[in-house]
Amino acid sequence: MNRYIDKLECLVGMGRSLSTLSTCKRSRTSAMIFTTNCTHIHSIGYNGVPSGVSNDACTEVEGECGCVHAEINAIAKLDRCITEPCLLYTRTMTCIQCASLVVNTWCIVGVVWDNPYRNNNGLELILRHHIPAVKSNDLRLENRQGIIQNWMKNDTLRQRR
Ligand SMILES: [Zn+2]
Ligand SMILES: [Zn+2]
Repeated sequence: MNRYIDKLECLVGMGRSLSTLSTCKRSRTSAMIFTTNCTHIHSIGYNGVPSGVSNDACTEVEGECGCVHAEINAIAKLDRCITEPCLLYTRTMTCIQCASLVVNTWCIVGVVWDNPYRNNNGLELILRHHIPAVKSNDLRLENRQGIIQNWMKNDTLRQRR
């Protein structure tokens, strides 16, 4: 179990480091999607203006800076053929739009996150859809071990809605 959490934390660290690539002037964040057994990284993302657009295009306006969110970038690059359950790591908890996308993404069975978003709407939506979300600092907490064990089992994909 501790070994499993070691692996999770290692991947979380890799996901976290991706935020250094972000070009957003407001807030630099990142996301990564990997199998729950921590053996395959399927996708990475960080926030920034759309490809081909000048990095100066970020307006720095909260919620309207024009940057694509890290989670959207990671989900957009996911292979449709994934047959194993995956976790989404996100540096900042998802906003409500990204949370909706997470709910609609067939392979994401859990979320590990570092920092809160400015409101809890995304977190609440994810939890309402029975996708467990664990703060990266809490991975070793006693009351999170049931969730972690389910991830460790790495068995079935979430039922698609
Ligand atoms: Zn921006
Ligand atoms: Zn978002």
